[in-house]
Amino acid sequence: MTPVRGVLLDIDDTLVDTRGAFEAALGAIVDRYLPGARGREAEVLAAWRADVAGHYRSYTRGEVDHRTQRMARANELHATFGGPPLDEEAYQEWDQLFEERFSGAWRAHPDAAPALEALTRAGLRLGALTNAATAYQEAKLARTGLDRWLGVLVGVDTLGVGKPHPRVFTEACARLGTEPAATVYVGDELDVDAVAAVAAGLRGVWLDRPGPRRVGVEQREVGAATERGVEVVTDLGRLPDLVLGFGAPAGLG
Ligand SMILES: [Mg+2]
Repeated sequence: MTPVRGVLLDIDDTLVDTRGAFEAALGAIVDRYLPGARGREAEVLAAWRADVAGHYRSYTRGEVDHRTQRMARANELHATFGGPPLDEEAYQEWDQLFEERFSGAWRAHPDAAPALEALTRAGLRLGALTNAATAYQEAKLARTGLDRWLGVLVGVDTLGVGKPHPRVFTEACARLGTEPAATVYVGDELDVDAVAAVAAGLRGVWLDRPGPRRVGVEQREVGAATERGVEVVTDLGRLPDLVLGFGAPAGLG
C-alpha cells in the first residue's frame, strides 16, 4: 500500500460547524421575515441545507454565481415558509442579516484542531478542498483558528468547478505536492466528498457526524462506497489512527 503523505479536508460540517452557523443565521431570518415559522426552525434549517432545487450544486458546477444561487434559495425558503418575495433591494438586506449572523457563528468542531495537530506531528502535509469561494473560506479558517494547520486551500473558484469533479481533487494534490494515491480526502458528504475522492484516485474517508444529515444517505449507498474502499468515521478523533494505519512516514506518534 502506498504510504500516505498528505491529507485534504473539506471545511463545512467537517472542520467547521456550519450547520450550527446556519441555525444561528436562519433563526434571525425566521424572527425578521418568517414569523409563521416560529417553532419550526429545525424544518427551516433542514430545507435550507437540503438545497432540493440544486441551486448550490449549480454554483459548484460553475453555472451561476454565489449571489444568484443564494437569492434563489432565500426566495424558495420564503415561498415555503410564508415570507415575502425578495426583490434585489430586499434581498440585499436579507443577505446582510443572514451573513452577519452566519459568519458571527463560525466555530471549529472541537475535534478539528486536535486531529490537525496530530496529523501535522505525524509529518503529513495538510490542505483544504472546499466547494465555497477561496477568499470566503480563508476568512472562515482564520476566524476559527484552523488556518495555521492548512498549507493549501482549493476552492470552487480555483478551477471554476467544485467537487465531485475529479480535477479539483488532483489539483489540490498537486498543490499539496502529493500523489493522489498517497493522499487521503475527508469530508461529510458521502458522494461529493468520499466517493468522488476515490473516483479521482485518492483514499476517501466519509465523516458521518451524529445528527441530521444534509441529504439522506441509504445503507446500500454506504455499502457500495465501502466496497470501493471508502472508510467511515463518526468524528475526527479517529482520523489520525486511521490515516497512520494506511501507512505513513516512519517515526511517528
Ligand atoms: Mg461539507
